[in-house]
Amino acid sequence: MIEHIEIEKCTGCGVCDWVCPADVIHMEPEQTTPPAGLKEVRLLPVIRFREHCITCFNCEIYCPERIVDVHPVVRSRPRPW
Ligand code: SF4
Ligand code: SF4
Repeated sequence: MIEHIEIEKCTGCGVCDWVCPADVIHMEPEQTTPPAGLKEVRLLPVIRFREHCITCFNCEIYCPERIVDVHPVVRSRPRPW
C-alpha cells in the first residue's frame, strides 16, 4: 500500500496520477496561498484513497523523481527501462 510522497521534491508532473489503476492519487491544487496577483495554481499529488491501493508499484516505478514510497521495505525497485 502506498505510504508516502516526498511532496517537497515533487515537480507536479502528474505521472503518478496517470499510472495509478485504482484512482488512489489525485492531483489537487497546492495548499498554499499564492502571492497577490498570481493566478497560476500548481497541482500536486494527494493520496486520496489509500485504502483502494492494490500495491502495484506503478507510481513508485514511473515517478521520474523517485519520490513515491509504496512500501518501506521495497526501495529502488528495478525500472522497466
Ligand atoms: S501502488 Fe499502484 S494502486 Fe497503489 S497508489 Fe501506486 S499506482 Fe496506485
Ligand atoms: S510522478 Fe512523482 S514528480 Fe510527478 S507528480 Fe507524482 S510524485 Fe510528483
